[in-house]
Amino acid sequence: MDDPMQSLRLDGQVALVTGASRGIGAAIADRLKALGADVFGTATSESGAAGIAERLGDGRGLVLDVKDGEAIAECIATIGAAASAPTVLVNNAAVTRDQLLMRLKDEDWAEVIETNLTGAMRLARACLRGMLKARSGRIIGISSVVGYSGNPGQANYAAAKAGLAGFSRALAQEVAARNITVNVIAPGFIDTDMTRALDEAQRDRLAESIPLGRLGLPDDIAAAVGWLASPSAGYVTGQTLHVNGGMYMT
Ligand code: NAP
Repeated sequence: MDDPMQSLRLDGQVALVTGASRGIGAAIADRLKALGADVFGTATSESGAAGIAERLGDGRGLVLDVKDGEAIAECIATIGAAASAPTVLVNNAAVTRDQLLMRLKDEDWAEVIETNLTGAMRLARACLRGMLKARSGRIIGISSVVGYSGNPGQANYAAAKAGLAGFSRALAQEVAARNITVNVIAPGFIDTDMTRALDEAQRDRLAESIPLGRLGLPDDIAAAVGWLASPSAGYVTGQTLHVNGGMYMT
């Protein structure tokens, strides 16, 4: 048997994490780096990208709007020139535009689908050539419990997150023979900017309703991504890994 600790390492891998400036994406990028990968992370602003480069290393923080197909191609080319084509892709960047459907504007539907779903598709497509050439790849999407349980006021977000899981199952079957795995992680409620909009009382009520008794931490998700990206998870593809403190069990 190979050294079990070694099979969790990512030495020699080049990883790209979208939305690595804060929250879950920042924790994922730091975790993959700690596991030995050469990690590139993206933000939507120059200052965000500079903050990422401080953590991940020179040239490792890039500006990217995942809605911009041309910028995605440039981003992958930049990484290829600085290191080599990414063999680990984590589609983490996402937005919310919550509203009950009766009041939901077309642009708020489109913004969420374009960012959370179409952006992830474009990034996966752009990374595939390099992964096929390397005969190795890990594509990990950050979905959400809301894509499975639903949530009032989040029809756009739930549709995108459920869509990401369906997309991943289809792609997993297209590329399995080339040693590329495609999976999603579905976080529950994690303590980040995205959930800080809730007031103290709402957060306390939420924590009480979670069997493990607390909101999740970005590191809870990063640990799961680290494992899925590693050689240890080489026989896992087309799956959803729920990391939610037990708030939703399948
Ligand atoms: P967050 O704190 O709001 O951070 C979002 C990240 O996405 C930021 O790095 C942001 O970049 C980036 N981003 C936003 N729009 C973008 C765009 N158009 N192009 C590129 N990057 C963009 O979010 P989070 O809570 O860490 O969530 C991370 C992931 O986990 C998301 O997919 C989210 O849906 C999922 N998730 C979160 C929770 C939760 O409870 N927090 C639960 C389930 C799933 P800037 O910093 O430059 O704005």
